[in-house]
Amino acid sequence: MLGPVILAASRSDKMRRFVSAAPGTKQVVDRFIAGETVDQVIPIVKDAAAKGLEVTLDVVGEDITTVEQSHAARDAYLQLIGRLEELGLGTRAEMSVKLSMFGQALEGGHELALANVRPVVEAAAAIGTTVTLDAEDHTTLDSMFAIHEELRKDFPQTGCVIQAYLFRTEDDARRLAAAGSRVRIVKGAYKEPASVAYQDKAEIDKAFVRIIKILMAGEGYPMIGSHDPRLIAITQELARQAGRKLDEYEFQMLYGIRSEEHVRLAAEGHRMRVYTAYGTDWYGYFMRRLAEKPANLLFFARSILTK
Ligand code: FAD
Repeated sequence: MLGPVILAASRSDKMRRFVSAAPGTKQVVDRFIAGETVDQVIPIVKDAAAKGLEVTLDVVGEDITTVEQSHAARDAYLQLIGRLEELGLGTRAEMSVKLSMFGQALEGGHELALANVRPVVEAAAAIGTTVTLDAEDHTTLDSMFAIHEELRKDFPQTGCVIQAYLFRTEDDARRLAAAGSRVRIVKGAYKEPASVAYQDKAEIDKAFVRIIKILMAGEGYPMIGSHDPRLIAITQELARQAGRKLDEYEFQMLYGIRSEEHVRLAAEGHRMRVYTAYGTDWYGYFMRRLAEKPANLLFFARSILTK
């Protein structure tokens, strides 16, 4: 019940101001956000590499309202890629981007987002890494998939995300698997209506399994983005049945969530990539993490009340 309320609050400016200013917020935010600057996130990339983990880096900040902010988002990723290159970390880290941050919701947003993301994808390719387009709410997805297809003409390694809770996703999975794409499958983190998405957790899990089967049987590279132990075990079994070797798919989890599992799976020989978000505009990302687990909200409330 609490999840949808928190997701609704994630769109409210009033709540944003309240949460951002509350004493005790930072302590909880720090669990999920790896830092505010590139220099703060680099040691985390190095630490992950030392533990045998890969990362995908997300500069947070989806709620932009101007073209200038969309250019600043592009530049923040270019700065990040420049630092990774200087430090020789290009092959350990890929980038995850939200097209909303690149201007997708502004007027002429589809073209603007494509124009902003292309140089980022180009710069990533130049240092031997790649970019994955995150999936946001369902109204943005046709544009995201069209941009993905366009980028793949020059950079076929560009990835995208699909969400098991949406009815459309099995068809998307079939199309992307046949096209040989890198595809991250996740449950889905936005508040979606019953007209487009399963609302029941068990239905979402069943859809997730059907989609893993499609991706494993296809020609692409499946990236399983979940902390759910059942789905991880099912993935391992389905990969085995599909005859996929350990380097022919990967697991992905979020920074700050089930960290011991990141290391355990990597030690078993799996490729494990940690989605590592950083930056100052963390509100939307943070609220989705609260919505996923009500216990986080209690922890957050306690840390505010005890400050
Ligand atoms: P759940 O059933 O939600 O969780 C399983 C277990 O994991 C829980 O019991 C708990 O122990 C732990 N857990 C899960 N979430 C939390 C949390 N927030 N805090 C503490 N413990 C937690 N969603 C999108 O809509 N678009 C994206 O582009 C996207 N990218 C993602 C990338 C990665 C690498 C991952 C891992 C997730 C991404 N998500 C994205 C979020 C995803 O949709 C889910 O909301 C999120 O992963 C929780 O689902 P779950 O599969 O972990 O299963």
